[in-house]
Amino acid sequence: MCLRCTTHLGRRGFLSLSSIAAIGAGAVGSGLMARPARAATALTADEALAKLKDGNARYVAGPQLCEDNMLKQRADVAKSQAPWASILTCSDSRVTPELIFGGVSLGELFVARNAGNMADTATMGTIEYGAEHLGTPLVVVLGHETCGAVVAACDVVKTHARLPGSIGPMVNAIVPAALAMKGKPGDFVDNTVRESARRTAHKIATQSPVIKHLEHEDKVKVVYARYDLQSGAVEFLG
Ligand SMILES: [Zn+2]
Repeated sequence: MCLRCTTHLGRRGFLSLSSIAAIGAGAVGSGLMARPARAATALTADEALAKLKDGNARYVAGPQLCEDNMLKQRADVAKSQAPWASILTCSDSRVTPELIFGGVSLGELFVARNAGNMADTATMGTIEYGAEHLGTPLVVVLGHETCGAVVAACDVVKTHARLPGSIGPMVNAIVPAALAMKGKPGDFVDNTVRESARRTAHKIATQSPVIKHLEHEDKVKVVYARYDLQSGAVEFLG
């Protein structure tokens, strides 16, 4: 059951996840530079976090995508958006936030994605915009199992692998996390996935004056997590 179905009365329509081939990955919307005409979400960071956890638990137990009211929802959010969480995650096609958090609909999540879920300038600005302008109370940095960008960073550390084009500089941003995890007990790549997500969350929380200010006012919380490709579970790490 999706998040929407838990809060709305009326006919429930479900579509098996396996039958869905083309679901838009992001819900950023076209109103990026327009101030919302309505208030931001009333949810606190802790309430938003609980909602994500509940949605992921439903996804793990029985992945379904809700089609209930999608037309109405599209119309409702066409003029403005009030997303209740910002998600920074990988571009990996298997880590689609709206799906893995239990079928979240249009206008609910503010999403930034790039290979390796790194916080470069564009991503920092995106997260800041979500928190400051749209009022999202929660920022989640979401890494995932066997992330290709992290694997590449570990290869750079282990074998001094050279990567073509802009992939090298992109992966270099993950290398400090890989260096920190080199030789540690456990799986090198998975340790680096977790460490990189932790570092990115820390960077957002400490290097962005916008987020720092909002955190100080208890208006934003930054957390990090790891998504398991096999089980579908999101493990919130800190
Ligand atoms: Zn990845």
